[in-house]
Amino acid sequence: MLFSEIGLGPEVLRAVEDAGYSQPTPIQEKAIPWVLQGRDVLGCAQTGTGKTASFTLPMIDILASGRARARMPRSLILEPTRELAAQVAENFEVYGKYHKLNMALLIGGESFGDQIKKLERGVDVLIATPGRMMDLFDRGNILLSDIKILVIDEADRMLDMGFIPDIERIVGLLPKMRQTLFFSATMPPEIRRLADAFLMNPREITVAPPASPAATVTQAVAMVRGEDKREALRHLLRTEDVKNAFIFCNRKRDVALLHQSLTRHGFNAGALHGDMVQSKRTETLEQFRQGEIALLCCSDVAARGIDIAGVSHVFNFDVPHHADDYVHRIGRTGRAGKSGRAFMLATPDDSRTLGAIEKLIGREIPRIMIDGLETPDMSEGESEGGRRRRSSRSDSAAKGGSRRRGSSRGDAAPEAPREAQAEAAPVAEEAVEARRPERQERPERSERQERPERGGRDRNRNRDNRGEAREGGRSEGGRADARPPRQDDRGEPRRRWRDEDDGPTVVGFGDDVPAFMLRVARPVARAVPPETFDGSDTPEA
Ligand code: AMP
Repeated sequence: MLFSEIGLGPEVLRAVEDAGYSQPTPIQEKAIPWVLQGRDVLGCAQTGTGKTASFTLPMIDILASGRARARMPRSLILEPTRELAAQVAENFEVYGKYHKLNMALLIGGESFGDQIKKLERGVDVLIATPGRMMDLFDRGNILLSDIKILVIDEADRMLDMGFIPDIERIVGLLPKMRQTLFFSATMPPEIRRLADAFLMNPREITVAPPASPAATVTQAVAMVRGEDKREALRHLLRTEDVKNAFIFCNRKRDVALLHQSLTRHGFNAGALHGDMVQSKRTETLEQFRQGEIALLCCSDVAARGIDIAGVSHVFNFDVPHHADDYVHRIGRTGRAGKSGRAFMLATPDDSRTLGAIEKLIGREIPRIMIDGLETPDMSEGESEGGRRRRSSRSDSAAKGGSRRRGSSRGDAAPEAPREAQAEAAPVAEEAVEARRPERQERPERSERQERPERGGRDRNRNRDNRGEAREGGRSEGGRADARPPRQDDRGEPRRRWRDEDDGPTVVGFGDDVPAFMLRVARPVARAVPPETFDGSDTPEA
């Protein structure tokens, strides 16, 4: 089928042509005609299938006639994360360039003032994350009585993140007479129940998952000791032909530390995690997209849905705790039929999680060795054995070094790892989706912290705490984590790996020197009322 046969208007078709699309994808082919007819749609599809255009294109056509009134948006698209919401807004700009539709993006971490001004001007398309949306509604800045089209995107992720009570509340505020488009990558019973409640006589559309991005990803895992991880990463960055890369850490604080370390070593790196202010998140992602930053140290906030073409590498600096996160992470490379390479650093502590990943993907990830670094015995874990190994390492080093050495490329076993990697059969994201028993996605924490707590949230709060503990110690809003921050997810004391270049360790604080202590304090002559003090009186070190 051609786009011209699908029923879209000439302006939208022109924008589609400008975007360089020749044919609709299966979800577009199946969904667009029904959306244009005003039917509700239940789409089982994931990112990468062209899902966004399957609802944005017909929405632009439908909304082309009619005008929005102040504070009364005509359509609402709910997205689980700010990044996904921003991506959908970009799609609207691309496809709606021959229309004069007003769009507002309501996401946390950005100024309320600007968002309110946009709402006042009248909005045809409102794209929002649930938290910020409800905040603005509760402040009386949005009236939802004119919503004609509702899109709930990534519903299963909304569920994972604890947004469903918000979604239910939002839907309860919308007119009964509306068109609802509901998309989810998977359809567990809870999602099915929601779909039944929200949709009226929907057209159900299921599309095969995309030609998986991971199908073109060559994978490898380097077994290293924890304290060697940064060196191993630098070695890979220098020996691999890295154009640009996502480097995933499990915790936000480690993202920041790794970013600092890489920058000190002269790498062009940026950082992205959920504790950063939104303007910085957006700016960093854009810089990475534009190639101004080559390496993006990030948490799992960047693992799903982020669509940046031509990313050459993904490095898992940490083995993700949840096996499906691995698949989402490596899916950031090898997109749109391009090849990509994914490396992971695993320590003896990671044996079990690595095993879970390999079980999930149904194959062993080829092992590589890093030149100059000892390959630990993975069966030893971080127990007595690990400590014994460390002491024997210093012994052998003192004796002139009889350590086992290898090469990730080029030396002792130059091509073997690459061949092994090339043989690694592709991993399909969809296969993982199908095989995993239950979704256990990490909540994207920040959205839920941006609004005041309301009653009846205990279930979600637990979920949040769990997610926060997994990604970092302290929330965006500064709320202490429910779990002591210096323990990892297995309840073991956290270790911090240091490089010799990481600056002095401050006795008494370990590595966790509070930021304010790193600033040069200037005496403040006058008392500053606490509500006006923003730190600007304190010069940066
Ligand atoms: P999505 O599933 O919406 O995240 O889209 C994944 C990617 O497919 C995005 O980079 C889109 O720009 C691209 N895309 C969407 N529709 C088409 C199409 N008909 N032909 C080619 N690429 C498309």
